[in-house]
Amino acid sequence: MGVFDDLVGQDRAVETLRRAAAAGAELLAGGRGSGMTHAWLFTGPPGSGREAAARAFAAALFCPDQGCGHCDVCHQVAIGSHPDLETVRPQGLSYGVKDTRQLILRAAGAPTLGGWRVVLFEDADRATEGASNALLKAIEEPPPRTVWLLCAPSPDDMMITIRSRCRVVPLVTPPPAAVAHVLATRENVPPETAGFAARAAQGHLDRARRLALDAEARRRREDVLSIPASLTGVGECVAAAERLVKTAEEEAAAVTAVLNEAETAELRKVYGEGSTGKGLNKGLVRGGAGALKDLEDRQKSRATRTKRDVIDAALLDLAAFYRDVLAVQFGAPVELANDDRRADLDALARASTPEDTLRRIDAIMLCRRRLAANVNPQMAVEAMTLSLRNPRL
Ligand SMILES: [Zn+2]
Repeated sequence: MGVFDDLVGQDRAVETLRRAAAAGAELLAGGRGSGMTHAWLFTGPPGSGREAAARAFAAALFCPDQGCGHCDVCHQVAIGSHPDLETVRPQGLSYGVKDTRQLILRAAGAPTLGGWRVVLFEDADRATEGASNALLKAIEEPPPRTVWLLCAPSPDDMMITIRSRCRVVPLVTPPPAAVAHVLATRENVPPETAGFAARAAQGHLDRARRLALDAEARRRREDVLSIPASLTGVGECVAAAERLVKTAEEEAAAVTAVLNEAETAELRKVYGEGSTGKGLNKGLVRGGAGALKDLEDRQKSRATRTKRDVIDAALLDLAAFYRDVLAVQFGAPVELANDDRRADLDALARASTPEDTLRRIDAIMLCRRRLAANVNPQMAVEAMTLSLRNPRL
């Protein structure tokens, strides 16, 4: 199985990347290699697999068979241990100019194994303006063996000057049937569960996989989707908002606690800890306290981002729910994402007009924008649940 087989429903992108990988091999062998480029921009909605596509391309560039999927090289890329692949995953809400300059220096080094040196920049849209300008310089004058793979939701999320110097690889949301097929054939998920998970995740493969395999993820989804039918009074709206934010906090805390612990332990190892020191600060050698402060800042920023991402996922579920309500109201013959909650959908469809439903979808989208702009989550979510209130239920 080749590295591109995982890219469900992305035939056009795969074709482009295969050709480029072949051209890249030709270049390394001293040929012309037209079709290979030093800067790529992978775009697509969440779940379309931007990072997965970029990683598959990196494997194809390194692998002697252009991405066979089973050699040591492909394996190293898959687990993130290939010496010439650097993956940048901004942990905070933004990625600064200092980090970017260091990254560019590392990227300019000669490849360890004599092939390409690849930087996979996930969420490149989080680069600050200063960082983007630094990045632009690096992309304008790339060292001959360095390849930049930037990922962002859409080309518009990047500075136009960066965008225009990149070859854009647009990825699409795969159809639920394709996602269900992958779950059933590769993860041995029973067809019915696979179908449910694929529909509920709206083509988001990772999320569909989690829904199919993780009971806790299914329970959280149930919690979120039980919200619309519960919003009859103001008190219910406030309570629902509180619950949603609290659940997100718990989930984010669970995710980040594991990471934080490992990083702090690593820092202790690097700077050493005094045998008598109780706290980390006390026993650290010079420079350690500053490094610790840096780390704590990064961890705090990551916690904020994770919490926001979790809330955003819940909001997307809610938006899909109201889209289903609208489909029921119009009697549209489309596949419902939340067919498993048909009774709630019908009740809401009866108790409101399509205009109400559209207004509610707008309220959810507004909440997403406000969260992205760093509005206090409790406030933003509460304003949203109040807009979703339906006293006629
Ligand atoms: Zn391989």
